[in-house]
Amino acid sequence: MLIGAHVSPAGGPAKAIERGTELGARSIQIFNQNPRAWKPTVYSDEQIEEFRAAMAASDVDALLIHAVYLLNAASEDSEIREKTLTSLIASLNAGEALGATAVVLHPGSAKGGDVGQAIERAGATIAEALAETGNCALHLENTAGAGGTLGRSFDELGALIEAAGGDERIGICLDSCHMLASGIEIRTADALTAAIDDAVAATGPGRIGSLHCNDSMMEFGSNRDRHADLGEGELGAEGCSVFLSEPRFEDLPCVMETPGPEKKGPTAKQVAEAVKLRTKGLKKRAKR
Ligand SMILES: [Zn+2]
Ligand SMILES: [Zn+2]
Repeated sequence: MLIGAHVSPAGGPAKAIERGTELGARSIQIFNQNPRAWKPTVYSDEQIEEFRAAMAASDVDALLIHAVYLLNAASEDSEIREKTLTSLIASLNAGEALGATAVVLHPGSAKGGDVGQAIERAGATIAEALAETGNCALHLENTAGAGGTLGRSFDELGALIEAAGGDERIGICLDSCHMLASGIEIRTADALTAAIDDAVAATGPGRIGSLHCNDSMMEFGSNRDRHADLGEGELGAEGCSVFLSEPRFEDLPCVMETPGPEKKGPTAKQVAEAVKLRTKGLKKRAKR
């Protein structure tokens, strides 16, 4: 497992590798545009070259690009869907240029409307973004299920994949906080095994492509998305060590999107602690 963190790309994407390296991260995740603005970033050839050289020289082996939260591929408003499409295409192009494992996307929100129709709209937007870009994978992230957010269950992720045409570039990103908050029990090895079995059954083999390891401030089934530092939430150290040691997650990038002690994201110490939690989880599994 490539344990790492969400980091800032301020100053250019190569800076994100530097920040990841300071944390001891094996994977990083970045936003490729200002999370509060629609304007997509297009990286220059020089920035791309710099990034690729920095990554090759580092211990960071995987990059995830998180599409920003403004996007709503399922919006009833065609203008929002159009802006979402433009932004998603820019993210996929950036992912391709930087050699990212994938772009991670929150599938969208039905707001108050019909969920089935929202899934169809999201699927159409996603299919179009894939048709207009090269090879970068797109991972749909499971959500905590607040409001009308899509992707609260594995069945919904499966329906979204189908609505998008089932393209093999589509994968899923599993967030531990979101699973717990949406009422999927994952705090014991047996529970997580069953949850992953369900995910595979609903989305198809080979779709699980990336991970977010976050503890949850909010309780099981609360449908509220508040990340906590590992061991400080409802998953607890034990639940996090179960997630980090899941055998089917072995080769995947796994980034923390946790607040950190100073609300500036995880520290090097916390990345090292996550690695220890994984080792602890592996030992416990070996004894079973
Ligand atoms: Zn996440
Ligand atoms: Zn979240």
